[in-house]
Amino acid sequence: MERARLVLKPREEARIRAGHPWVYDNEIATVEGHPEPGAEVEILDTRRRSLGSAFFNPKSKIRARIYSRIPRIADEGFFVEALERAIAWRRRFFDLERQSIRLAFGEADGLPGLIVDSFTGEVEGNVEASGSSRGRWLSAQFLSLGVDARKAEILKALAKSFPSEGIAERSDAPVRSLEGLLPAIGTLAGEIPPRVIIEENGLRFGVDMLGGQKTGWYLDQRSNRAAAARYAKGRRVLDAFCNAGGFGLACAAAGASRVLAVDSSAEAVLSASANAKRNGLERLVEVREANAFDLLHALERSREKFDLIILDPPAFAKNRASVDGARRGYKELNLRALKLLGEGGVLVTCSCSHWFVPEIFARMLEEAAEDSGRRIRIIEERTQDLDHPIVSGYGESRYLKCTIVEAL
Ligand code: SAH
Repeated sequence: MERARLVLKPREEARIRAGHPWVYDNEIATVEGHPEPGAEVEILDTRRRSLGSAFFNPKSKIRARIYSRIPRIADEGFFVEALERAIAWRRRFFDLERQSIRLAFGEADGLPGLIVDSFTGEVEGNVEASGSSRGRWLSAQFLSLGVDARKAEILKALAKSFPSEGIAERSDAPVRSLEGLLPAIGTLAGEIPPRVIIEENGLRFGVDMLGGQKTGWYLDQRSNRAAAARYAKGRRVLDAFCNAGGFGLACAAAGASRVLAVDSSAEAVLSASANAKRNGLERLVEVREANAFDLLHALERSREKFDLIILDPPAFAKNRASVDGARRGYKELNLRALKLLGEGGVLVTCSCSHWFVPEIFARMLEEAAEDSGRRIRIIEERTQDLDHPIVSGYGESRYLKCTIVEAL
């Protein structure tokens, strides 16, 4: 059967040619043929030059997601090739036999809507010392109709290119509803242990692939946790959105004098406490369930001071319309944190919303400094770790800001 073609309106191809992989509903002049939801379609410009092959979704504003810049079928062989390219990139920087990494980062790896994290470690509590409790498990998100409809091919491709003990599905991200898909959580292959103990920067963390937030662990902050820890020796540390304790524990292990780690989620607090124990750091680290906004306020009133504060809130800006509201939220947090820092104190401040672009983030931070009456010196402007590649033309892939400043 000949595949359908989407012909773009005049001038809509520039963004796509520059590397952006999405075709929006309002950019299409005509649909030639009758593509089924999820089908492969050809994208043509007004002069009928091909821009590549894409997954079609009539229910989504993102009507088509380009998976190849040259016309081709998205069969098992295609996924094997794309995964092997993604794996080869990561091998340059990581030891894939030992480290846990993001194996596939959606569009940035030419796999629209497919996220796969690989967790390497040992099953919790399995102390038979047989060595067989070690392994790797994958946690996958299918966030577009195109990859959701091709789960079988993708699972086969994963088995070939990156064999594992089991594959968990974590397709419970809210963006799935924009694709007309329901949330799905479960086991797709093999067995998923309740907890895998992974190693990161020399520390041990428990990952609950089926129950934890997102895919179970925020791999993108790996190098930023190590960076933050460099400022921790002998310091009083506040980790204000700690989740499972990634930043706070890295700081404790690096010699912090004490760490207060806070999260509003009861499960996150339990995992952070368990992780503190796992690393013998529970005496240094106090984990508290609290709203970070309220807590920062209360700490200010009680005149507590910290030397190092980490702010890693969830994405406040979920779309273009919420950027302004998000800016107020980020500013309030940063302002309060700056007030809690003693002279020479260090703030590690993050935003994981790609809508909140680096320029706006930097400006927000300057305003927070002005309003707090402090001047700041920028020490490092960082981003996500290398297993979350950033590609030109696709701004969404540059999503994490992690700026480290000194408060003067
Ligand atoms: N820093 C963590 C990741 C943080 S993700 C790491 O290194 O892994 C953001 C966290 O903020 C989530 O765990 C979420 O439960 C928590 N959170 C969301 N709103 C919050 C609030 N108002 N106060 C405190 N924590 C909050």
